[in-house]
Amino acid sequence: MTDLEDWLVEQRSRRGVGKAKRMDPSVPAAVWHEEELLDGEVVDTMAAVVRTGGCSHDRDHGGCTMCGYASETPHRPPTVDEYLSQVRALAARRGDARWVKLYTSGSMLDPDEVPPVVLEAIVEAFDDVDMLTVESRAEHITAERVRTLGDPSRTEVAIGLESACDRVLDGSVHKGMDLAAFQRAAAEVTGEGASVRTYVLLKPPFLTEAEAIDDSIEAIEAAASAGSSVVSLNPVNVQTFTLVDRLHHMREWEPPWLWSVVEVLRRTAGSVPSTTRVISAPTAGGKVRGAHNCGRCDGDVVRAIEFHRLSNDPEELDAVPDCGCRPMWRSQLDLEGLMQGPFAPFGYRRSSVR
Ligand code: SF4
Ligand SMILES: [Zn+2]
Repeated sequence: MTDLEDWLVEQRSRRGVGKAKRMDPSVPAAVWHEEELLDGEVVDTMAAVVRTGGCSHDRDHGGCTMCGYASETPHRPPTVDEYLSQVRALAARRGDARWVKLYTSGSMLDPDEVPPVVLEAIVEAFDDVDMLTVESRAEHITAERVRTLGDPSRTEVAIGLESACDRVLDGSVHKGMDLAAFQRAAAEVTGEGASVRTYVLLKPPFLTEAEAIDDSIEAIEAAASAGSSVVSLNPVNVQTFTLVDRLHHMREWEPPWLWSVVEVLRRTAGSVPSTTRVISAPTAGGKVRGAHNCGRCDGDVVRAIEFHRLSNDPEELDAVPDCGCRPMWRSQLDLEGLMQGPFAPFGYRRSSVR
């Protein structure tokens, strides 16, 4: 066990204390509707977080450095009846959604987390949607499990790759997975004719802003090569009881700039094939604990990123305002590697006044 894993395992014991006891295992953790682009059309989509016993990697190895999902895990796993009650609740909330995305705080394809009978009930409940997305860690993905998800032409499996660099995956994200494991899992999904959605991080701990941009671009290109139809760029945000939270509190790490999100989207628009859609929907975008800029231009930039997500048109990114904070972002890219410690002196960005 590494020092990092030791620390994460120790932190895990503190996460969710008190809160977990109040969680009802028969009720989904969250349900919301959003818009998605399906075959060139913007469609109503229901997204939900199914409450489960939690992520195997978190339970066994302390989880990833940026992930606070353990605080959303109930004090005991749901029973099968409680899971089925969640499925009924989700079906009742679907409305007109043509796309259903079901997340867990772990892996839908891990039979120890989501019993196969529950997965069957989910597939049956949503067998008439145009697209069903479920997420899973790579090691739980097999061709056989993908086949249980039904018609592959309307099935998408979401996988967190995060970075294509094994050193970053290990020492920065603590993902418990390497690039080869992702490639194997993606091949299992595409081999069955289903689609792959890949999550890529922007700026996990210990990377400078410029390194983070390059790392994301490399990961997006690797995800595209592995046959992903969608790559979602997730700028790291601050979640409670995580290493990122601790580093942020110590002023040793800052969320990425929104300009960096735009930069990655722009550069990959020219470098990945059109069969892969690269998008971003920054969690807490424009807020101190999420990707943000100076505070004046954040709303406009977040809106441009959202328009780009739903139009798949890189020109939306050219509509972002030319704010005075942009040269500051550029100077951080140029200078941060030359300095020791984070290049965000007091007063430099909004988050420094927290
Ligand atoms: S990011 Fe995913 S794999 Fe990592 S601990 Fe969280 S749920 Fe598990
Ligand atoms: Zn600005």
